Amino acid sequence: MTGVTARVPAKLNLQLAVGPLRGDGYHDLVTVFHAISLFDQVTVEPAARDAVTVTGEGAGRVPVGQDNLALRAVAALRAAVPDGDRGRPGVQVTISKRIPVAAGLAGGSADAAAALVACNELWAAGLTQRQLCEVGATVGSDVAFALLGGTAVGRGRGEQLTPALVPATQYHWVLAFADGQLATPEVYAALDRLREPGGPGGYGGTGSSPGSTGLGGVVPPETIQLDAALMSALRAGDAALVGSRLSNDLQPAAVSLFPALRKTLAAGLELGALGALVAGSGPTCVFLAASAKRALDMAVAMSGAGVCRSVARVTGPAPGAAVVSL
Ligand code: ATP
Repeated sequence: MTGVTARVPAKLNLQLAVGPLRGDGYHDLVTVFHAISLFDQVTVEPAARDAVTVTGEGAGRVPVGQDNLALRAVAALRAAVPDGDRGRPGVQVTISKRIPVAAGLAGGSADAAAALVACNELWAAGLTQRQLCEVGATVGSDVAFALLGGTAVGRGRGEQLTPALVPATQYHWVLAFADGQLATPEVYAALDRLREPGGPGGYGGTGSSPGSTGLGGVVPPETIQLDAALMSALRAGDAALVGSRLSNDLQPAAVSLFPALRKTLAAGLELGALGALVAGSGPTCVFLAASAKRALDMAVAMSGAGVCRSVARVTGPAPGAAVVSL
């Protein structure tokens, strides 16, 4: 066999509830993942030793050594298959990026998931999706969801997944890419600071909690739970209700580090978005539109408004990482 190519989606978090800082430095999460039609493509080919090449959106900011999450996934899969290294020498990984780097869309985890699916095929290793998810979870918290796709509830660090039983409603999203990046650990650290008693955020506001359009406000971490109203809106396939329940506890922290996002979020809401939020740890902003036509109108207007670097229209849910025939 020569090469195998897999395609993998970016993710949004329709809800991202962040618990208190744990002893191990992580936070417990309750999140609703939603895969969208913004795809990276990863090709794996037999080679003398493991190596990675990256092209496309933000390629210059992606590490090309063993830190690359796709290469880490290759190594993790090799270690997990029954006869280890035997007959599975190096792999050349070629990543074609459309998912912006450090944008809150889990592009690195997506590439890891695609590498797992592609190597599983290349090596005829025969791991099930569940087994690939277990390997993926050792590489990154969002890898398992990139394998699964669709819409799913994540707990723990996000790797404990339950697919959401929702109808096949298609949602129309507009993404506003920022002129800059945010490092995920820095955003969590900013949230911890905002949450300190007497800290700059206090617990007063409800801006990023479910049911608001979310431009600020820090949510207390003690009782994170799945937003039942969001889940029932998803089960009903009611876009307006889904838009009204989008929430992200990291949003005040992301906005505090990247104040221009406030203007971007406000612009989308003024243009008639059903809901707006920062994607994951940011700085991408996400808007839900009532229809494909509304999404197109909003994207055109956002492009002209000068409130972001560029704009994309996508739909969700999208399928998880899968081999494609070229
Ligand atoms: P996170 O998944 O931590 O929430 P994010 O979605 O904001 O992060 P990513 O695009 O996943 O952002 O990139 C996070 C960091 O991961 C980058 O700054 C980069 O150094 C590193 N990284 C490693 N491998 C990759 C990869 N294949 N693609 C993109 N980034 C990668």
